[in-house]
Amino acid sequence: MALSLPDLPYAKDALAPYISANTLDFHYGKHHKAYVDNLNKLIAGTQLENRSLEEIIQEASKDPAKAGIFNNAAQVWNHTFYWNCLTPKGGGAPKGPIAEKITAAFGSYEKFAEELKNAGVTQFGSGWAWLVLDGNDLKITKTANADTPLAHGQKALLTLDVWEHAYYLDYQNRRPDYLSSVIANLINWDFVNSNLK
Ligand code: MN
Repeated sequence: MALSLPDLPYAKDALAPYISANTLDFHYGKHHKAYVDNLNKLIAGTQLENRSLEEIIQEASKDPAKAGIFNNAAQVWNHTFYWNCLTPKGGGAPKGPIAEKITAAFGSYEKFAEELKNAGVTQFGSGWAWLVLDGNDLKITKTANADTPLAHGQKALLTLDVWEHAYYLDYQNRRPDYLSSVIANLINWDFVNSNLK
């Protein structure tokens, strides 16, 4: 069974004006789809063919000879996770269990939002900014290229894609503006809370 491209959890124009339908056409319809197609080609006929995506990521992360498989598998997982981290009319201060954890770990929502944005701004080149659970500790991290918390024993709670393809059509070189817009308007806190369970 080949891995398939999961449906977007909303319409392509649902995140506008913060992320346009044009960006989602390319980012989901071309980039994310290409990672799925490439991964299926790379694992066809190998012992990884019928494994779960998470198992493929774990296995490939330990083997430098499987870097191509790791990169495509992690990008499939990261993008599906990222779409679920966004929602129309989201963003702003969270509610529920994550709100208390954020205040305890970062002092306030405002300090958390600043630190998350800073992780995305300071990721040199392509990559991802994350909120993760590392053991019981809530941490903001960043990863380069396809790298993912799954490969580091951490539980991903929230991510923001900072590859140029995530924002260039809407914000050109203004990565900080993209991050501010998404943090203020699109974060799906219900999904983040569901990841705590
Ligand atoms: Mn991307």
